[in-house]
Amino acid sequence: MSLLDLDAAELEQLAADVRARYDELKAKNLSLDLTRGKPSSEQLDLSDALLGLPGAGEDVDKFGADVRNYGNLGGIADIRELWAEVLGIDPATLLAGDSSSLNIMFDLISWSYAFGNNDSERPWKDEETVKWICPVPGYDRHFAITEHFGFEMVTVPMLDDGPDVDAIEQLVKDPSVKGMWSVPIFGNPTGISYSRRVIDRLAAMETAAPDFRIVWDNAYAVHTLSDEFPDNPNVIAIGEQAGHANRFWYLSSTSKITFAGAGVSFLASSKENLNWYSHIAGVRGIGPNKVNQLAHAKFFGDAEGVRTLMRKHAGILAPKFAAIQEILEDRLGAYGVATWTKPEGGYFISLDVIDGTAERVWELAKQAGITLTKAGASFPRGEDPRGRNLRLAPSLPPLEEVTEAMDGVATCVLLAAVEKLGA
Ligand code: PMP
Repeated sequence: MSLLDLDAAELEQLAADVRARYDELKAKNLSLDLTRGKPSSEQLDLSDALLGLPGAGEDVDKFGADVRNYGNLGGIADIRELWAEVLGIDPATLLAGDSSSLNIMFDLISWSYAFGNNDSERPWKDEETVKWICPVPGYDRHFAITEHFGFEMVTVPMLDDGPDVDAIEQLVKDPSVKGMWSVPIFGNPTGISYSRRVIDRLAAMETAAPDFRIVWDNAYAVHTLSDEFPDNPNVIAIGEQAGHANRFWYLSSTSKITFAGAGVSFLASSKENLNWYSHIAGVRGIGPNKVNQLAHAKFFGDAEGVRTLMRKHAGILAPKFAAIQEILEDRLGAYGVATWTKPEGGYFISLDVIDGTAERVWELAKQAGITLTKAGASFPRGEDPRGRNLRLAPSLPPLEEVTEAMDGVATCVLLAAVEKLGA
């Protein structure tokens, strides 16, 4: 059934019911926030033991180097080896940095802009136009970076198994297309993971720009909502086998594993790409926070320690995701006014409402004391051409608040839909 199947009288009745429900919602004077994908304090508490690590007198890495001092730009072997095992990659291809992978992404783009990367004919600032492929919906902070540098952002739709790779293969024939954003596992905001077929084609495709790069932002590599962990294909090896060893800049971090803002970030790539990065990183600084790297290595113990911790996160997050699914299905399923993703991991659910009503839903929710991420935020410059997408982020509020907020959002979706139909 869909709203369109209702006759005029039925639609009027539904509109009256929904308006009454919305008035009740407003009368509750709620103050709820579903905006950003931050871990809850209950999740952060899981890593409190980190605050006492590495511990006085425990200040050397596995080779006996004092982690309290300057140096070791690539990060300590203790955490690099452990993390390489988590991701299933060769530790020789992995650097450990400071707390933010987003900072590294900004470096990669801004250094390519200022100096060119190791395959560039000239710095990107000297190119007439730089175009960047943006799968949508995608991560707003990615788009903010490429917008900041004035790149022309070209969107491609996310499909069920990754971005539309047919479209990408066409776009990269243009030499001004220099790269692409990606969140390959449990993507932000769809929760979709790229299939091996998509990955192989991204690795193998010929690009007109010799310095084309894919930012492989694997922010949710182990962020399952169940006991099952996703496969993390080793794109560094896959790129190399496909004859494009320098294709991927592979990022990850422990931001949503231990502490957001005080974790460890990682960059994996080919030897040439890492040499280029490290050369400039060595001008920017003397070395990363190795005390924190050692604390993390001791806290995790081994790769299985990471998975044990992630199962605890899943125990906290899964009921919140399940509540959203249940409410959406229960309140909206019968009316055909929305579709939404059903992720098995990550931090978000992507909700598509009737075309042109996302902003109205956001506004109605706001007036009822429920703050949602701005409509369109998952598109470059915040412009969703169909005006239908909303990103739901259930991690931060407690379960009761997630439930209350979502029930309210469902009312707003229905109200915006009946308004659109003129009821
Ligand atoms: N990438 C994605 C896709 C994210 O969702 C986030 C956090 N919202 C980040 C990167 C930020 O990572 P970091 O804390 O390592 O900078």
